[in-house]
Amino acid sequence: MCYTNLAMDRLSDQGLPAVEDFLRSLFFGLDEEELARLAQAARVRAFPAGEVICREGEPGDAFYVIVEGQVGVYKQVDDTEERWLNSLGPGEFFGELALVQEGTRNATVRTLEPTTVLEIGREPFLRVLGASPSLAVRILVQLGRRLVEADRRALAELREANEQLRLALERLERLDRTKTDFIQVSAHELRTPVAALLGYAQMMQDHPLVQKDEQLRALVQGIVDSTDRLHRIFNSILDLSRVIEGDVKIHPSPVSFPVVFQGIRDEFQEALEERNLTFEVKGLHDLPFCQADPVLIYKAFRHLVNNAIKYTPDGGRITVTGEEVEVPDLGRCVQIVVEDTGIGIAPEDLDLIFEKFYRVGEASLHSSGTTAFKGGGPGLGLAIARGVVLAHGGRIWAESPGYDEEACPGSRFIVQLPLRPLEGEAAVDGEE
Ligand code: ADP
Repeated sequence: MCYTNLAMDRLSDQGLPAVEDFLRSLFFGLDEEELARLAQAARVRAFPAGEVICREGEPGDAFYVIVEGQVGVYKQVDDTEERWLNSLGPGEFFGELALVQEGTRNATVRTLEPTTVLEIGREPFLRVLGASPSLAVRILVQLGRRLVEADRRALAELREANEQLRLALERLERLDRTKTDFIQVSAHELRTPVAALLGYAQMMQDHPLVQKDEQLRALVQGIVDSTDRLHRIFNSILDLSRVIEGDVKIHPSPVSFPVVFQGIRDEFQEALEERNLTFEVKGLHDLPFCQADPVLIYKAFRHLVNNAIKYTPDGGRITVTGEEVEVPDLGRCVQIVVEDTGIGIAPEDLDLIFEKFYRVGEASLHSSGTTAFKGGGPGLGLAIARGVVLAHGGRIWAESPGYDEEACPGSRFIVQLPLRPLEGEAAVDGEE
């Protein structure tokens, strides 16, 4: 007798014995007494098509066996979208997981056509589960099947998502390449006239007529400062494109960190005084010389100090600490930490800030001076610093408790440069 074809009215017509027969065919091994109790606890329920029997997230207090019809099982992806998982037909069951886990429903079950089910409450279900090895085995088999199916589906979706991501990445890389090419060509073309402009402006500065006239002197100073800034930006772009292209060479020689940071301090002395910033170095004199490209190393740390100045409010402190450390994979290293008492960096930006042209917040909100608080910059400094450090076989990263312009939690930039000799020529050039 094929009980799975019984319709609800037939089950009901035939009463308890029919329900018992149906359950016996599914859960053999139950003694007659258990079977009779289970049949008594079971409610025959009929649902029209499109009706929800269980809803994901709601408490589950019953287990269902499908007598006739078909249901679909769905999982919520987000507030608006649900995903079809599988469909179940006569003789199959659902709702057992929430009962076993004593939790809420893991999925929504909706009828795909008029469907008849046997609904069995938690307590009789758990009792019968303990008494019927066949039910336990069937539940295990069904769970296993669902897991395999979910695995297969997840893998297929992952493969599809990966393919979509790969295509999107390819497209982005093409766009990025075009953008970088354009910027690089423009920087090349514009650098020469800007260098000439800077030269002429500096000559004008020295002209006796300008020297004598205070107003003119201020105007020419403005031209010199702006042109100098423009010149630096073009140089940074060219530096960066070399780092990216791998078209740059390292010219190694012994680098002394006290000398590097003395140079940087001298370069920013005026800004440090103007902004009342304390600049302190610790432990640099105890460091060994490092085989590196002095010009590039200077550039990398110059950007870090420049940022520390830009993102620290007046009256703050910048501390540079050096020590020799042993690093797994890199061996003995010089570790330099540039730390400030500035606005800090949000956790989600700690990696992104090393991307070229990445700047936190609205570019228009930044002020325009290169050493002014939150002074503008093209978003290249850290990308260059990272390129230089990587070309030296080292590591660079940022740490910060978070971003807060009021509390100023500060930031730390850590650089590790291996002390072993550089292998051949790496890919960065020191030319300005
Ligand atoms: P930029 O020219 O904008 O300074 P960078 O590549 O040097 O470009 O830095 C990228 C971004 O990282 C900056 O716009 C800033 O938001 C953040 N940043 C860098 N250094 C610091 C720092 N010391 N403190 C807080 N934020 C920083």
